[in-house]
Amino acid sequence: MTEREHLPLPQGAEIAVIGGGPAGAFFSIYAMRLAKDMGKKVRLTIFDRKTFTHQGPAGCNMCAGVVSESMVQSLAIDGINLPPSIVQRSVDSYCFHSSSGEVYIRSPYTRQRGIATTYRGGGPKGSEKTGIQSFDEFLMERAAKEGAILDRQVVDEIQLNGYKPRLCSGKKFVMEADLLVGAFGVNALTAKKFEDLGFGYTAPDTIRATQAEMPLGKDWVSEHFGNAIHVFLLNLPGVKFAAITPKGEYATISLLGKDVNQETVKAFLSHPLVQKMLPTNWKLPERFCHCFPKINVGAACKPYGHRIVIVGDAASTRLYKDGIGSAYVTGKAAAQVVSLYGIGEGDFLRHYSTVCKEINRDNLVGRFLFGANDFICGLPSLSKGYFRTLQQEQKDPSLGTPHSDMLWDMFTGSRSYRDILFQAISPRSQYTMVRGVLGALSESFNLFSTALGKG
Ligand SMILES: Cc1cc2nc3c(=O)[nH]c(=O)nc-3n(C[C@H](O)[C@H](O)[C@H](O)COP(=O)(O)OP(=O)(O)OC[C@H]3O[C@@H](n4cnc5c(N)ncnc54)[C@H](O)[C@@H]3O)c2cc1C
Repeated sequence: MTEREHLPLPQGAEIAVIGGGPAGAFFSIYAMRLAKDMGKKVRLTIFDRKTFTHQGPAGCNMCAGVVSESMVQSLAIDGINLPPSIVQRSVDSYCFHSSSGEVYIRSPYTRQRGIATTYRGGGPKGSEKTGIQSFDEFLMERAAKEGAILDRQVVDEIQLNGYKPRLCSGKKFVMEADLLVGAFGVNALTAKKFEDLGFGYTAPDTIRATQAEMPLGKDWVSEHFGNAIHVFLLNLPGVKFAAITPKGEYATISLLGKDVNQETVKAFLSHPLVQKMLPTNWKLPERFCHCFPKINVGAACKPYGHRIVIVGDAASTRLYKDGIGSAYVTGKAAAQVVSLYGIGEGDFLRHYSTVCKEINRDNLVGRFLFGANDFICGLPSLSKGYFRTLQQEQKDPSLGTPHSDMLWDMFTGSRSYRDILFQAISPRSQYTMVRGVLGALSESFNLFSTALGKG
């Protein structure tokens, strides 16, 4: 077997991790823990120019900061407990708003911890609140505790010296690594540098998103948004997903779609279903904390090479949700492969590529499910029937809540899309859905007859 096919991590290995977001942090935490367990000495350095304690986009990895309940649970099992200074709000439900009504859905799972809303950086720009602890900085500190070295600089040049990656920053040599880990996400130009190395990596497809922080005040946020994430199924042109996440003093708007911009935010805010949740005549201030990050909606091609592995958004992530959870899955899987198998191209092909392929395959089903959800919400009679079914399930959960559970799982990432599809096509789900649609149709018919009678 050649070195390319199998190469164990050498004693005293130099590991370079480019990117200190969740994927880089999770890889580092688990790689350091496993190395210690196996009695291996490694020197692991995380490179990231960002200081996550800064306010606004400069110190933030631009996301709504929702840490899913399965993720909070997995972290707790691994001994990583999110402290109260990080959790802005503990969420126990999702509220779905549509022109056919609104419905609150609670978690169908009995878990000890709920969903956590966090700030990835030091909080919104201009925020007066101090003491906000950043989720990403917390993970960086955990990685440092495990022995990782943090180097706050950008890596702007990568070469393959023989087979060993050689890194530079600002034309200065930084290190030659035994292993290079790409955890650079989809918002930097770093992907091009990996593509140019010629080992077959291609960055995933992305779409634009926007994030805007609305300073509504703690009392308003608590009273009107409560402990729920609000998803708006409004069929706004160009918008694939719209949600408002309550935090402390702020509520975060997240819109995903084609060419979303400030005008899209304004159009969203002026929709009557959104307006009714805002103070009368409330307007976004002239200056407000917002950003236009990209979101991964595809799959990277060949996220590994000889002595190279790519994790998190830059590799594979679940479609439209739980990106932090995917960073955990890919980061931890890569750390296990590196420690238990090796760092040769063949090691990653046999033991890591399967993890990414599994996420990619499931996303194909996810794409279909989101398409079906859009289709249902776009047809008034179907949408009404669907919401009626959901409302009835929530009113009397003793009869079972299959549709609520599916919607919960689709938007929170608690289960694979494949499992959700199997549940959606089960005879029981089909039956309750048909009953709901027929109920809505007969309601519309009765209203119509009454109106005709009056006329
Ligand atoms: C609008 C929006 C809302 C979202 N909401 C959620 C949510 O609520 N919950 C959730 O789970 N996911 C959410 N996501 C997805 C989530 O943000 C990502 O999946 C997650 O951040 C991926 O982590 P990562 O570590 O792979 O990449 P990132 O978080 O993007 O981190 C990459 C890091 O690499 C650094 N870097 C890049 N190039 C270099 C270089 N050359 N040198 C040094 N450093 C470098 C960057 O500075 C950055 O810190 C959202 C995404 C968007 C766009």
